[in-house]
Amino acid sequence: MRFAVLGSGSQGNGTLIASGDTYILVDCGFSLRETERRLALLGVSATQLSAVLVTHEHADHVHGVGLLARRYNTPVYMSQGTLRGLRKPVEVAGFLGCGDVLQVGDLQVSAARVEHDAYEPLQYVISDGSRRFGMLTDLGSYDANLLARYQDLDALLIEANHCRDLLARGHYPRFLKLRVGGSQGHLNNHQAASLVAELGWQRLQHLVLAHLSSKNNLPHLARQCFVDTLGCDPDWLQVANQDQGLDWRHIA
Ligand SMILES: [Zn+2]
Ligand SMILES: [Zn+2]
Repeated sequence: MRFAVLGSGSQGNGTLIASGDTYILVDCGFSLRETERRLALLGVSATQLSAVLVTHEHADHVHGVGLLARRYNTPVYMSQGTLRGLRKPVEVAGFLGCGDVLQVGDLQVSAARVEHDAYEPLQYVISDGSRRFGMLTDLGSYDANLLARYQDLDALLIEANHCRDLLARGHYPRFLKLRVGGSQGHLNNHQAASLVAELGWQRLQHLVLAHLSSKNNLPHLARQCFVDTLGCDPDWLQVANQDQGLDWRHIA
């Protein structure tokens, strides 16, 4: 099993998970052309995609979904609430809700509801039957129910959206600061690191920090917060950025 990131941040998100001939794209926040270009850099053609899973209706997650699905006839899965929230509806192959499990080829997808200012946002844990990869972005808070769905992971991609101090001192208008930093906004570095500490990280082969704000965070601040909280090796932490994403990582 392996995963790669097409790009991560408020300008567009996409994560690819593969096992054998099965390729799942989670979110498609780039234009169709840009998605095709980024897939090609990872050695994948859009014709190979087995499914697209959508987390929620925000543009940085859905921008290219409709065109991609129509051009390549790719089945799309999302929550009913997410479909309701879309400005341009897309044809949906099946709906997912919290706790639902979907088999796509060699991979099994489990959906978890998160706290975010969208209609019915979901995040996903994807497994090949023996290894588990968790994705957790676009959430402002978490509880024990959510943590229970992210147990026993072998790899985790987690949002480290902003630094609390940079957000407070930055130029965002007050309403936006409240939204981003609120319980239905985004995890700050400290919250994200605490979440990983609560989950336990000793078993993780990969820990990827994602969805970093370009205005309210810096990669070295996010890294340092995780190093301070977890006591892990700074070089072990990985950051998926907006322009390059993250190249393939194998989960052994
Ligand atoms: Zn987002
Ligand atoms: Zn969002």
